[in-house]
Amino acid sequence: MVKAVVGANWGDEGKGKITDMMAESADIIVRFQGGANAGHTIVNNYGKFALHTLPSGVFYSHTTSIIGNGVALNIPVLMEEIKSITDRNVPMPRILVSDRAQIVMPYHILFDQYEEERLGKKSFGSTQSGIAPFYSDKYAKIGFQVSELFDEQTLREKVYRILETKNILLSQLYHKKTMEGGELLATLHEYRDMIAPYVCDVSAFLDKALKEGKTILLEGQLGTLKDPDHGIYPMVTSSSTLAAYGAIGAGIPPYEIKEIITVCKAYSSAVGAGAFVSEIFGEEADELRRRGGDGGEFGATTGRPRRMGWFDCVASKYGCRLQGTTDVAFTVLDVLGYLDEIPVCTGYEIDGEVTTDFPVTTKLEKAKPVLTVLPGWKCDIRGIRSYEELPENCRRYIEFIEQQIGYPITMVSNGPGREDIIYRESPLKK
Ligand code: GDP
Repeated sequence: MVKAVVGANWGDEGKGKITDMMAESADIIVRFQGGANAGHTIVNNYGKFALHTLPSGVFYSHTTSIIGNGVALNIPVLMEEIKSITDRNVPMPRILVSDRAQIVMPYHILFDQYEEERLGKKSFGSTQSGIAPFYSDKYAKIGFQVSELFDEQTLREKVYRILETKNILLSQLYHKKTMEGGELLATLHEYRDMIAPYVCDVSAFLDKALKEGKTILLEGQLGTLKDPDHGIYPMVTSSSTLAAYGAIGAGIPPYEIKEIITVCKAYSSAVGAGAFVSEIFGEEADELRRRGGDGGEFGATTGRPRRMGWFDCVASKYGCRLQGTTDVAFTVLDVLGYLDEIPVCTGYEIDGEVTTDFPVTTKLEKAKPVLTVLPGWKCDIRGIRSYEELPENCRRYIEFIEQQIGYPITMVSNGPGREDIIYRESPLKK
């Protein structure tokens, strides 16, 4: 049985917390896309952690954590991350890395930085982790698969061939120092020795696990609106953030994905550039940012302040639909307890017409939010464990949003910890 945990919006919805919580009853957790460009923050009995590459199941000794073929694998970052958790007394997790995963090369990171530098004010706000150059090379068929590290002749030939074009870009387009083949090869030998203990034929492993009736969790990074096809192109990430891609990025049959838990945050936040219709500014935004998440809404990887906004029903309805949502996990609701009134974006006005359908980017740029204001509940809801005990206005907020998005909210998260969760029966759950 396979379940996916994915995001409905721009990322940072709290997928890490939900995955960590659900991993308790799972056997295998798989990262299937993205790289070390975004992070998941997890709070559990070992402390507070920011994971970038490892799946959020590494804190349990009964689970296997897998880096699937769809991931942009930064080998030194993975090694550091393993060390950073074991240094803090987390038992060494069982980790497997797909032999078909491709490697973030040192030059991918350089090209990411140089291109943002070249674009100046027109930059994408990339985290400069090499992700866009990595995926470009993957689909241009000049990427390096983990398996190739173990074939010296192929590796050597390929390094020199690829450096020919990379060095032209470095010297002619960016006016930077060129790279030397021997040096790159030596780095790749180091990568090979670091990754060797973890390499595995992941799709064969998962096929066997499925036959044995194991529970597999697919952990998504970012959210629907950052998907390269269905998101706010071009201000998107470079790999698909949809649950459907989980089948490809892990190497399992699509029909095995039985549950799709889409995580929606009770308000909005976004990083990087791009249209953000329900965005708020000034003191109103600062206060929500300061109180948001667990210790403020700042990027887990970059520390950048996140852009803030009210909950966006238009974007979330669309976000849930593209994921194929079976359940919505509605998170970080406790943060809104300070507000007298809570605006919610229930429509977009585009060229004088109001719509609840999420548009293509050119139209999105023109959209103005239509807000509905709901009463706040003005109290701290942390520690509450049953839905009926939530204040009436808080339940009204949840039920209003559920109606608007049209997908069942079956989990409400009211704190960063594993135990801060309220299960709910939804009238929309079939
Ligand atoms: P992810 O990338 O989707 O996993 O999200 P992030 O880790 O970037 O952001 C979620 C932040 O909110 C983290 O700091 C979590 O610890 C925190 N968090 C998750 N769920 C809750 C919640 O229900 N309440 C509060 N206050 N914080 C939460």
